[in-house]
Amino acid sequence: AGTAEQANTGKSSIPGVKKILAVASGKGGVGKSTVASNLAIALAATGAKVGLCDCDLYGPSVAMMFGSHDRPMANEHDEIIPIEAHGVKLMSMGFLLEERSPVIVRGPMATRYTQQFLRQVDWGELDYLVLDLPPGTGDIQLTIVQTVAVDGAVIVTTPQEIALIDARKAVSMFAKVNVPILGLIENMAWFECDHGTRYHLFGNGGGAVEAATIGTPLLAQIPIEAPVREGGDAGRPIALTSPIDSAASAAFHDSAAQ
Ligand code: ADP
Repeated sequence: AGTAEQANTGKSSIPGVKKILAVASGKGGVGKSTVASNLAIALAATGAKVGLCDCDLYGPSVAMMFGSHDRPMANEHDEIIPIEAHGVKLMSMGFLLEERSPVIVRGPMATRYTQQFLRQVDWGELDYLVLDLPPGTGDIQLTIVQTVAVDGAVIVTTPQEIALIDARKAVSMFAKVNVPILGLIENMAWFECDHGTRYHLFGNGGGAVEAATIGTPLLAQIPIEAPVREGGDAGRPIALTSPIDSAASAAFHDSAAQ
């Protein structure tokens, strides 16, 4: 990290962090935080040291998804000590707020908070810092990817055309700042009933077509399953209890580590 090229583009690495991975989506509600949380847990299960930074100030969900209501403390250097849950170091606006209080922060302050989350947090030594970006491609997202040396991005979408259009915008944003796209994840790909019939509620095959158009791998297709939602709501993401496809997570580990 911190190569001369990155220095020239104004991006800087985070000390002690080997790889920074962004999980992004063009549109909200497609399962970005669910994917980011499960990805962090799956990477930690490979033995890697992992942090997850919830950069979505306006709709932080990482605290709930990890079932933690702890308040972070500061260390002697005035850095925030991340909360640790399920083997992952976490930072989220959700830890700093009462559950139901809205975040009233305007653009410039939001950018400052996000920078603090990334830089004034005592992340320690990490193999991976996963960034759960806010949905969309606005100023906050752009500032993050322009200032932090992100090593690769994973784009989450549903097969629905409107989600794919927005996912394309996210891909262009990363292209502009020279962040490689590691692949696309198609979430809510189908729902399978008890009789084994698959219903493609949001359309069929959109993720594969889009991945081919972009020229990036389709890393996974995730069906709509109640346990995925229940795991998130209960603070125990499904990757903790469901057997993790070790070949898939090792493959991801290898490609992300390059
Ligand atoms: P985003 O971060 O894109 O806004 P979330 O990860 O918060 O989306 O997901 C939105 C909602 O959909 C959450 O309640 C989550 O539990 C649920 N969800 C996400 N993916 C799935 C899935 N594959 N099956 C069932 N529920 C899902």
